[in-house]
Amino acid sequence: MAIDFTFAPEIEDVRLRVREFVSTVISPAEADLRANVSGDSRKDRRATIETIVALRAQARDCGLWLPHMPPEWGGMGLGPTAMAAVSAEAARAGIGPFVLNCQAPDEGNQHTLLHWGTPEQKEKYLRPLCDGTARSCFAMTEPEVAGSDPTLIQTSAVRDGEEWVINGHKWFISGARGAGFAILIARTEDDPELPQAANTAFIVDLPSDGWDIVRDVETMSGSHNHCEIRITDLRVPAANMLGGRGQGHLLGQARLGPARLAHCMRWIAQCETALDMMVDRSLTRYSHGSFLAEKQGIQWLIADSTMELYQAKLMVLHAAYRLENGLSFKTEVSMAKHFVANTLWRVVDRAIQVHGALGYSTDTPLADMLKQARWSRFADGADEVHQMTIARNAITAFRDHGSTRTATGDLPF
Ligand SMILES: Cc1cc2nc3c(=O)[nH]c(=O)nc-3n(C[C@H](O)[C@H](O)[C@H](O)COP(=O)(O)OP(=O)(O)OC[C@H]3O[C@@H](n4cnc5c(N)ncnc54)[C@H](O)[C@@H]3O)c2cc1C
Repeated sequence: MAIDFTFAPEIEDVRLRVREFVSTVISPAEADLRANVSGDSRKDRRATIETIVALRAQARDCGLWLPHMPPEWGGMGLGPTAMAAVSAEAARAGIGPFVLNCQAPDEGNQHTLLHWGTPEQKEKYLRPLCDGTARSCFAMTEPEVAGSDPTLIQTSAVRDGEEWVINGHKWFISGARGAGFAILIARTEDDPELPQAANTAFIVDLPSDGWDIVRDVETMSGSHNHCEIRITDLRVPAANMLGGRGQGHLLGQARLGPARLAHCMRWIAQCETALDMMVDRSLTRYSHGSFLAEKQGIQWLIADSTMELYQAKLMVLHAAYRLENGLSFKTEVSMAKHFVANTLWRVVDRAIQVHGALGYSTDTPLADMLKQARWSRFADGADEVHQMTIARNAITAFRDHGSTRTATGDLPF
């Protein structure tokens, strides 16, 4: 019987150590931060950064550092399936992934540099990212064109001797303020054979002349260092091209599979936190002669959330399994990303319902979790774009094989 839903003992050991570290060290520190919010966003951000820096030292001492990177880069060398377990534990605290140095967008950039970087680029840019002495950002989306369709990218890079000159406009660039470098996607090809082959990736040292942060875009959950950037005659050495000319799309795709799955793993942790809170509250809140937990209407909310979380975990584990075993994974990641993002929204919303006014207040993390959950349905691939991929795959499978079986996870039944 080849199907086994248990983790190898060494993975289970890491998972439990992360769980323990989160519950005894990170979550209490995070609760302190929440209790001491001053209302001055700069001061609060500084306090968060100081807390993360102190916790990172502890995480490293405990051997819980950079779980997704190979040991030669200072990491724990975990594959996608083990990472599913570890990320789902780490993200039980909002700052958990930052403490373990597996947060977006650095995690995706680390994978990208490991896969595409030259030895010199890896030493200069990947090393400090892995050491935790630098942060990075990934700059692709532009306000003027649909981010869902990277073939529309307008930021252009033109070769001038041993340099590229870049002009354009980006926004929602997470972590741009304070980043040591950006991986930037720009159009280099005027008339490519395939529309997807127009773009190229560059590593941009920051700060740089010609890279101007216009503002930190204010979102429905406040400002979180998602920046608008004007790029004017920015000069980048030719040696800073990452991957080949016209390979920006390929690089983005290679990056997005694991990065989307990593998001799913973090969202599962958030779902679990919300469901735990929903059940906890229902066991202590009394109304109309019984506790909420005894009311069928509330049990349905709990049951639906439990079933959906179960589905979400299975989908993520299966997609991680395919990724780890070199099998095609694009559609499975699309299905997992779509499903988990929507599950997150529904479960947090139900948890707020069960908490009533308390859930709507900022006394619990639920309100903030709901606002954060909203972007999960369009960032890193909008729901409808994933549905397009999923449907296309099902139609192709039926056309080719007379059955949609291979499009539903290609499971052995
Ligand atoms: C919190 C946050 C962090 C982000 N961080 C980064 C970052 O670090 N770097 C970066 O480059 N970008 C980042 N982004 C941008 C993100 O990647 C884009 O929002 C995403 O790619 C969608 O692009 P868009 O916003 O331009 O929406 P659009 O592409 O304009 O799409 C808007 C809507 O149109 C619909 N739609 C689009 N295409 C189709 C289609 N083919 N069929 C049917 N419907 C469709 C969908 O409903 C979609 O939600 C971030 C965004 C957020 C919210």
